[in-house]
Amino acid sequence: MTKKKKTYGLRLRTRGGAAVQKRWTRIMLQMNQPHKCPSCASPRVKRSIVGIWSCSKCGYKFAGGAFTPSTKTGQASTRVQES
Ligand SMILES: [Zn+2]
Repeated sequence: MTKKKKTYGLRLRTRGGAAVQKRWTRIMLQMNQPHKCPSCASPRVKRSIVGIWSCSKCGYKFAGGAFTPSTKTGQASTRVQES
């Protein structure tokens, strides 16, 4: 009997070791999860292209991270400065 190769959910189409596949799968699962819309607060935000996120309910489009709608760096830059 041949041993079945271990897969990590989604298939990675590029070469790489198990560590790369694990990381890619984790990011993809995080990306495909429903995200909250900053305009209408419904979880229907999807990524249209890298960095651009759009809500399928209200059509709101905004710039965000490559794999997540908001990044820590983006939050820091949009933070209102306190006087
Ligand atoms: Zn919306």
